[in-house]
Amino acid sequence: MITTVLPTYNRAPLSFERGEGSWLIEADGTRYLDLGAGIAVNALGHANPDLVAALTEQAGKLWHTSNLYQIPNQQKLADLLVAHTFADTVFFTNSGTESAELAIKMARKYWYEKGQPDRIEILTFEGSFHGRSTGAIAASGGEKMIKGFGPLMPGFTHLPWGDMAALKAALTEATAAILLEPIIGEGGIKAWPDADLREIRALCDATGALLVLDEVQCGMGRTGRLFAHELAGITPDIMMVAKGIGGGFPLGAVLATENAASGMVAGSHGSTYGGNPLACAVGTRVMEIIAQPDFLEAVNRKAGLFRQKLEGLVATHPDVFEGVRGSGLMLGLKCKIAPADVVKAGYAEHLLTVPAADNVIRILPPLTITEEEIAEAINRLDRAATRLETA
Ligand SMILES: *Cc1c(COP(=O)(O)O)cnc(C)c1O
Repeated sequence: MITTVLPTYNRAPLSFERGEGSWLIEADGTRYLDLGAGIAVNALGHANPDLVAALTEQAGKLWHTSNLYQIPNQQKLADLLVAHTFADTVFFTNSGTESAELAIKMARKYWYEKGQPDRIEILTFEGSFHGRSTGAIAASGGEKMIKGFGPLMPGFTHLPWGDMAALKAALTEATAAILLEPIIGEGGIKAWPDADLREIRALCDATGALLVLDEVQCGMGRTGRLFAHELAGITPDIMMVAKGIGGGFPLGAVLATENAASGMVAGSHGSTYGGNPLACAVGTRVMEIIAQPDFLEAVNRKAGLFRQKLEGLVATHPDVFEGVRGSGLMLGLKCKIAPADVVKAGYAEHLLTVPAADNVIRILPPLTITEEEIAEAINRLDRAATRLETA
């Protein structure tokens, strides 16, 4: 008999009642050190007092009005995002998937309004993940996600990840945009080399194709910069954001330059909940905290420490681990055995990590994780690896 919750997830037999910073706590009081943060969502930890205050204060005043009216919290958050990024304008969504949908629509509408309605092709990369809507699965193109859901939305070309020659060959007058994750998340924590990103930006400048970056997972301070593209010294034309921006409250956004957004006018897009007062109250507080140079500096310091300790762990357990990859606190441990087994051994040590493709387990802790908690995480990973070696 089918479960009452649609069985689209293989869930671990863990259930948490509350959270506290980097810790998740079961009903019986058992504490798990959380290196997954809800898949890079709880960027400021669980039950962060600043965010609880922002949410509850707004909850007592007003939850929802619709976008028929001005929403001051939305205005405030948009102003903050524009002040801190390449963007001139922001649309708020409720998820990464919705941000992908708008990014695709915006890129196509741009060329339509420029009098080139056939310029619809979007170049994407194998192993990428942009969400689960019909548009987003067409963009990602992975067999597991698309099988049985056809016919797929046309207009996407999937290129081998990191293959600059293939990219140059595929770039034509029909190319509306290039869409990529600066650091691939679900696909196994793979960062585009800075030089490639700079070359892609130059190719876009030369051809007019829009550069659309999916920073749903790698953005919002995760890499030690507010957004990952800053590491390469480039800016996109359109950027998808979600996950960390709400700190656990559903919120996403599409940021764009004035030029890239020029096709979007009143009536061309909308959302009932997008940018609602609750989400934006929390999102504003998240931005105020993460965008501080001191905060990002601390992320970088902790990331350096974490990485160094992980390299040591790999050296100690060469039969379990192969290497460390990623940037900032978006780290991947490449495994020599099934990553699901490593994640499971972590559970036994009351440690949460997240599996990814390419034999990688992801380490995406709250950005507020402390140095003591990093040391404790390494101890637990060490014990988990020992378990696997002696199993
Ligand atoms: C999670 C994710 C998405 C989809 O976000 P949802 O909020 O689950 O819809 C899109 N792109 C990337 C890179 C992601 O990590």
